[in-house]
Amino acid sequence: MSGIYIHIPFCKQACHYCDFHFSTSLKKKNEMIEAIIIELQLRKQEYTGQTVETIYFGGGTPSLLSNEELQLILGAVDTHYDVIVDPEITLEANPDDLSVTRIKALAQTPINRLSIGIQSFFDEDLKLMNRAHNSEEARKCLKEATKHFENITVDLIYGIPGMSKERWIQNIEEALSYNISHISSYALTVEPKTALASFIQKGIVDNVNDDEAQEHFHLLIDRLDEAGFIHYEISNFGKEGFFSKNNTAYWQGKSYLGIGPSAHSFDGHNRGWNIRNNTRYIKTINDGMLPMEIEHLSVTDKYNEYIMTGLRTIWGVSLNKVEKDFGKSYKDYVLLQAQPLINEHLLYIDDDKLLVTKKGKFLSDGIASDLFKLNLE
Ligand code: SF4
Repeated sequence: MSGIYIHIPFCKQACHYCDFHFSTSLKKKNEMIEAIIIELQLRKQEYTGQTVETIYFGGGTPSLLSNEELQLILGAVDTHYDVIVDPEITLEANPDDLSVTRIKALAQTPINRLSIGIQSFFDEDLKLMNRAHNSEEARKCLKEATKHFENITVDLIYGIPGMSKERWIQNIEEALSYNISHISSYALTVEPKTALASFIQKGIVDNVNDDEAQEHFHLLIDRLDEAGFIHYEISNFGKEGFFSKNNTAYWQGKSYLGIGPSAHSFDGHNRGWNIRNNTRYIKTINDGMLPMEIEHLSVTDKYNEYIMTGLRTIWGVSLNKVEKDFGKSYKDYVLLQAQPLINEHLLYIDDDKLLVTKKGKFLSDGIASDLFKLNLE
């Protein structure tokens, strides 16, 4: 089982908090699509003998591509890879690109899952984050999209400076009112060198408040649990049968191919990074080369990654797997490191699984780092 991730590195405008790779100039859009198609062809031998079960258009803003352009890329995937019947095909889309006509036309393409970047239903939040859409567009697009797509996920951001608890609850309730099957929700984080970091530093915007974010997170998990969602990964909640297949494969350590500038790949042993520059990406591909750096993962790297992703999911860290894949010394190590965290009720053991408690969920990345091993290889 394998997945293909395709990074579309263009956005209408830069959201103030974002540190993903994108350009706000669309000048190279056609060249980029051609280069992505060539990369798909150049890398087809990496998937010999494997079937593709999921295709994911991420970004950037993939909905900036027309349906025809997206289909051109999907055609190249079909030509060069062995794709299963009815794969999960996700499109990340922003509300301002999802007019009624566009949604109806999208529903006629093989794309069967929409990931809509709502973030908030309040204009003051959207303005603070410099999103390209407004709350009216968010509502209109959800109303229409839910008529044509069964599999929809929306992104919501909490912990926004100035966002009261009441406003956050209203956001959750409004998202639920559309009867969607999946929600991804993240705390606003201040990444270095973003506009948000600079506004906070200059005192123009209040800093994010960890305690408020933690309160929002707990309100979210309680309310979504009540509404029948399964909290299957720290930031992801899905109804039964609607977990993201693409992301689940990634969290379970399966291989995936990352196509496009800045995309990551993983083949089970090596991690690859495509160059984070549109012009250089296109040039390298047109020269017939792969614009990729490859890092071979040591046993310790793989152990650390398993701990990190395992603790973020409901599947937890299997102690038997740790022993089988990494050796008894790793199992002894993880149990020793976990003990103080178990005493603090941040971790618990269920059968052979090490899992984070509800109290530990907001802190899971920090907890994971306490279980990491230093890489001395
Ligand atoms: S639309 Fe998405 S990728 Fe583009 S700037 Fe905003 S958050 Fe970043």
